[in-house]
Amino acid sequence: MTRMNPEEMTSMRIVLLGAPGSGKGTQAKKLMVDKNIPQVSTGDMLREAVANGTRFGLKAKAVMDAGNLVPDDVVLGIISERLEQSDAASGFILDGFPRTMQQATDLEELLDDRGTPLDTAVLMDVDFDILMKRLTGRRTCSLTGKLLNVYYSSQDELDECTNAGGVLIQREDDTEATIGNRLKVYRENTEPLIEFYKSCDKFVTIDAEGAIDDVYARLLTAL
Ligand code: AMP
Repeated sequence: MTRMNPEEMTSMRIVLLGAPGSGKGTQAKKLMVDKNIPQVSTGDMLREAVANGTRFGLKAKAVMDAGNLVPDDVVLGIISERLEQSDAASGFILDGFPRTMQQATDLEELLDDRGTPLDTAVLMDVDFDILMKRLTGRRTCSLTGKLLNVYYSSQDELDECTNAGGVLIQREDDTEATIGNRLKVYRENTEPLIEFYKSCDKFVTIDAEGAIDDVYARLLTAL
């Protein structure tokens, strides 16, 4: 058995699991600020590639707009490059990765090779009806990038964006048709990871319904 140095023992290497709309991104961002470790979101990185208009980005866009998964080797490549960066040395929060069994086993291998195994996989548990409301209502302020929701944000918060000249942007894959497919893809491909992480004793689940700060408090307790 390899001995860990004290730095490693205090590091946080976390996977956030959960259906689209379970709040992984929101909670990962809070944790990032609090613990000074990066949020690594494959969805965000893929959207950046799409926005940059690369050939790869264009191909990925079609897959993402349909709510399907981009190939495992592509996301693994993105992740392994990202984890090489110095800010990920003392930990990271993986948000939206892994999403398939192949990705989960590839990640285990990648982290084992680095000598930095995963600490915990946290499942963010949310009822189906709430997921739908969170996804269909989700908006981003074009000026600040702040995440808002037409059902849950206060009118003041929404006005703050539009009064400053911003627009409330809806993600292209947050349409009802695509959401249905994304949830199906989650059930078929990603839910099996729950058993996988249970079997290696890295699994915790939290109730991810309710106010953002309440969910965050539960997340901290679970970690
Ligand atoms: P997200 O922002 O995590 O909901 O991801 C948006 C979209 O990006 C997904 O619907 C997929 O098309 C793609 N994507 C993100 N992460 C992954 C992943 N780990 N594996 C495959 N596709 C992904």
